[in-house]
Amino acid sequence: MAGWGKIRSVADLPVEGQRVFVRVDFNVPLTPARGVADDGRIKAALPTIKHLIERGARVVLASHLGRPKGKPDPAFSMEPVAARLADLLKQDVLLTDEPVGDGARKVVSDLRAGQVALLENLRWSEGEEANDEQFARGLASYAQIYVNDAFGTAHRAHASTVGMIKYVTGGRGAGFLMIKEVEFLSRLLGEVERPFLAVVGGAKVSDKMAVLENLLGRVSAMLIGGAMANTFLKAQGKAVGKSRVEEDKLALARSFLRKAEERGVNVLLPRDVVVAPALDATSGHVVSVDAIPEGEMALDIGPDTARGFGDEIARARTLFWNGPMGLFESRPFAAGTQAVAQALAANTRCLSVVGGGDSAAAVEQLGLSDKITHISTGGGASLELIEGKELPGVKALEDDAPAPGSEQDGGAA
Ligand code: ADP
Ligand code: MG
Repeated sequence: MAGWGKIRSVADLPVEGQRVFVRVDFNVPLTPARGVADDGRIKAALPTIKHLIERGARVVLASHLGRPKGKPDPAFSMEPVAARLADLLKQDVLLTDEPVGDGARKVVSDLRAGQVALLENLRWSEGEEANDEQFARGLASYAQIYVNDAFGTAHRAHASTVGMIKYVTGGRGAGFLMIKEVEFLSRLLGEVERPFLAVVGGAKVSDKMAVLENLLGRVSAMLIGGAMANTFLKAQGKAVGKSRVEEDKLALARSFLRKAEERGVNVLLPRDVVVAPALDATSGHVVSVDAIPEGEMALDIGPDTARGFGDEIARARTLFWNGPMGLFESRPFAAGTQAVAQALAANTRCLSVVGGGDSAAAVEQLGLSDKITHISTGGGASLELIEGKELPGVKALEDDAPAPGSEQDGGAA
């Protein structure tokens, strides 16, 4: 299997018998009792890990977990992750007692072909996020070959995603998950079948404005829901009661709507919404967006809007969805998000890509994951890619540039 451009796939690296450092994204949610609440990210890395085991590599896995503030903290130990991974692989996973140090070195150097070690939480050291040279060299000393399969952190230039790579001399490349993520998300930035819809919701306009801007030149229409729709509604002069609004983004929202109109891109905003007096309300009622009561807030798109969005989604041939249509974690305000997910699942002719932690969780909760072409494991990273940015963790995987003047065919691998 080929990688893309100047980047090699793990399948094309000479990993047999070698110590291979694999940056994975095992930043999973934990239960209060410190179990793994959702092992989706662990499962997503299995194809790369199993491939390396089968080829007799000595596998050194590393990830961050949570925010342990740069020092050892048992609350953020990788221990539950190591246990779950061992279950999934049906073989031992040797957990080191620190990310870098004598204990870790011993575990790694004793590894035999096909064995797997997991370094303790990389963010137990300040060196990880600071991309510290010393820490990066320490990590690099564990392996002859470097593989990155952690798409979820590819938008960060940390020691394990960028800094260490130049010190690993036996080869570098992308894991299968990384390749899949970049391929599907990049596809949306190339020639796609139309209609191409963007469905955008979630908390804030400010998080997603760059994505909206970059998609504006590509999509046939844009459907906007969630709390960010409130800011657009208010920008259009509507009274939105106590709804969450970003007052400082009203001008931006207005200029965005103007640009969309100039380009002839239809932006669909909610026509009706489900409102309630507070975020913790146990029920809501439906009103037109022209009649949002002063003391209430919009917490979901209404049924009329959901139907309209559903009709558009049914006709789409390509679709990118980021951000839930409402406060979907709360049952009375989940129907809009559910309707969008169901319409998307029912459209079997659509290339559908879902990005964003909460939107992905919503699709999974509804049991519709297998009806979506690609669900990204990386929230921030998927957004930055769609914004058109270059991800440092992807860029760093490129082979050293060929010498000036020598035309090299990178795609023939
Ligand atoms: P994603 O993780 O998919 O990118 P975001 O993090 O941007 O999505 O937004 C998800 C959050 O936005 C959820 O917690 C959801 O409850 C909240 N949300 C969506 N719509 C509303 C709304 N109308 N009012 C308040 N919160 C909302
Ligand atoms: Mg989120």
